[in-house]
Amino acid sequence: MTIFTKIINREIPADIVYEDDLCLAFKDINPKAPVHILLIPKRKIPTMDDLVQEDKEIMGHLILKASDIARQQGLAQDGYRIVINNRENAGQEVFHIHIHILGGRKMSWPPG
Ligand code: 5GP
Repeated sequence: MTIFTKIINREIPADIVYEDDLCLAFKDINPKAPVHILLIPKRKIPTMDDLVQEDKEIMGHLILKASDIARQQGLAQDGYRIVINNRENAGQEVFHIHIHILGGRKMSWPPG
């Protein structure tokens, strides 16, 4: 079980900003930008490589909700970044797919 399953099950606290039947969004405990939200599916999908055809709906839902949450957080006008770190080379630490929503500052490209 990952730390994110414990957050979904309310076994450990998190600063939750959005929840519905399919997903949960909460503030990152170690923010890398003034706004740093993590958006996760409630169904545990460890990595991008575990996605199957049936995940089309949930992944589409997550992208639409990322857009809504960014707007609610006041990021839409200035812009923001969404990131999915996949496996070791990308620095994935928690093996439960999550979309990082980062904003509130200018970001560089390419990422480090
Ligand atoms: P990854 O490196 O896997 O893409 O991102 C994992 C993220 O989860 C990191 O940004 C890290 O700060 C965040 N994180 C790890 N443990 C916790 C926790 O217990 N609570 C919250 N809110 N965020 C966490």
